[in-house]
Amino acid sequence: MENQSSKPLFGPSGHDETFVKEGNTVTLQMPKWLRDKGLDIFEYSFGRGVRTSAETAEAIGAEADKYGIEMSVHAPYFINFASTEQDKADNSITYLTSSLKALKHFHGRRCVFHPGAEGKQPRAEAFARTKDNFCRALAEIENLGLDNLIVCPETMGKQAQVGAVDEVIELCTLGKNVYPCVDFGHVNSLLQGALKTEDDFQRIIDKMFDGIGEEKTKNMHVHFSKIQYGAKGEIRHLTFSDSVYGPEFEPFANVIVKNNLTPHILSESAGTQMTDARTMQQIYNQLINN
Ligand SMILES: [Zn+2]
Repeated sequence: MENQSSKPLFGPSGHDETFVKEGNTVTLQMPKWLRDKGLDIFEYSFGRGVRTSAETAEAIGAEADKYGIEMSVHAPYFINFASTEQDKADNSITYLTSSLKALKHFHGRRCVFHPGAEGKQPRAEAFARTKDNFCRALAEIENLGLDNLIVCPETMGKQAQVGAVDEVIELCTLGKNVYPCVDFGHVNSLLQGALKTEDDFQRIIDKMFDGIGEEKTKNMHVHFSKIQYGAKGEIRHLTFSDSVYGPEFEPFANVIVKNNLTPHILSESAGTQMTDARTMQQIYNQLINN
């Protein structure tokens, strides 16, 4: 797949507080606004359903092209490839394919999704089901001629969710168009705050190099925000002003530079996505200019 850029790309997921405060109301205004802020990418969420008309998406896609902003989408949260109920698994396939159809209208290349939830099954069963249903989804994506788009299974933050780093790596081996979305806030939540040093981040990147190779690792999708966690994992998204939960971006920035990574990095902070995306971009720029 070609979806490489020569450097890491930074941007927000969703409308943040500043976008609204500065008088903007609709996503159509987002590409120009982000370009003025010096950012590169925007993730549009279909969290509660794919409800954007083709017309609106095309208009946003045209603005994104005009201002050089790369669009991605987040598929609905109700996707559950681990479901034991056939209709729910089938619907999950439809949620993913309809997200991809909409992504095309946005002129984007990447669609992030949450793989599934255990429910009452043992973990191994839940993951085996996730793989089976996701393979069916990939076949359907190919049938529809949408396999030139990239789907990104996300690493999840709660124990009961499918999407540990190893599971996401395995899902990424199932198709050439499957790239990882590593949500480092989720990984940190699941591991109870274990992502602290450069080595902690490097170990994850090494696992990816081993499991899915250089191209997919270097061009992975990233969600980076600080997240509050408890015994069962993720509780809620915070902002970069948090100093308790982490993770901090600096150690990961070092890993990006040392490994020549060119990920797409989205901030999912609670209300400060644009500002925190810029902070990450500045941290990275300072490192490479030194
Ligand atoms: Zn997500």
